[in-house]
Amino acid sequence: MKAIEAKVLAGERISGDEALTLLRDGELATLGAMADLVRRRRHADGVVTYIIDRNVNYTNVCNAFCSFCAFYRPPHHEEGYVLPYEELERKVAETYALGGNQILLQGGHNPKLKIDYYEDLFRRLKARFPDLWLHALSAPEVIHIHKVSRLGVPETLRRLRDAGLDSIPGGGAEILVDDVRRRLMKNKASTAEWLGVHEEAHKMGLRSTATMMFGHVESLEDRIAHLQVLRDLQDRTGGFTAFIGWTFQPGNTELGGREATTAEYLRTMAVARVFLDNFDNIQASWVTQGPKVGAASLAFGVNDMGSTMIEENVVSSAGTVHHMNEPEIVAAVRDAGFVPMRRNMLYERLGEPLRT
Ligand code: SF4
Repeated sequence: MKAIEAKVLAGERISGDEALTLLRDGELATLGAMADLVRRRRHADGVVTYIIDRNVNYTNVCNAFCSFCAFYRPPHHEEGYVLPYEELERKVAETYALGGNQILLQGGHNPKLKIDYYEDLFRRLKARFPDLWLHALSAPEVIHIHKVSRLGVPETLRRLRDAGLDSIPGGGAEILVDDVRRRLMKNKASTAEWLGVHEEAHKMGLRSTATMMFGHVESLEDRIAHLQVLRDLQDRTGGFTAFIGWTFQPGNTELGGREATTAEYLRTMAVARVFLDNFDNIQASWVTQGPKVGAASLAFGVNDMGSTMIEENVVSSAGTVHHMNEPEIVAAVRDAGFVPMRRNMLYERLGEPLRT
């Protein structure tokens, strides 16, 4: 353990085995101190960023059948929906009214929606809101669209980009180990497919984020294997803007079980900060952990509070409902001793808070 600490202090890269030792045996306070050191090296001015945006789920119809998901409805279910274009436009207009110009647009794998649905939607939204930033369609959705539309992945991404797609959210990664994925879902992108979409997107200039959902059936080794493939891809492309980790929310899901503890969340985020030495930004998940743990994570390597989440439907379907508006995020950041700053998806700083 001392040798690993010395490497981190010296600014050297640690191996997967060393990260596993930290995750398994490191004391919480030691991990926090290490992650804090690494974060301060990258973000010496003490700024903690956040973004004003909204999660919009255009459809809940999905044929991936993930056992950890409380949000989806199978095709033909009476509670299935596809939001009308007008409703989506109204949600974007509300986001603008609150000072944001980005939406995180994601949905289920709806077999009825082929690529022309997304092209029409993106073009329509961009025509009405020319500076809208569309952070849209996780890698498994892109894989789904490529399959139902019978197009190659590069062609699918090119057409979506040409219609207005600006960047890709990191959702759907869960744990990037195929054995774990097979135990969690019936019909969703494999590890290679998830990574392939991001690599292809990075090659064509689209930036993306990376995520990890942990605390379900995976082992600690699986978590490190997940972080390893993210770090390797980032070494090749540099296209990820941030890493976001959150814990499985068992409420209303087929998988069920218990939720990971706060300590488990903080330990994992701290190790991610130390191990992912080629990621600039590590984002809190206050929407799953609650505002207090979200703020505490700022001492465990996190430098971004994520989104104001004007709307959120997926985590709340599992019965976990936390809210933080802009003044609450700003207060939490200041209370923790940092300087709050608005940002965009590219992590460019936009300025002081609009509302405090
Ligand atoms: S997590 Fe996504 S892909 Fe899986 S069932 Fe839910 S909506 Fe579908």
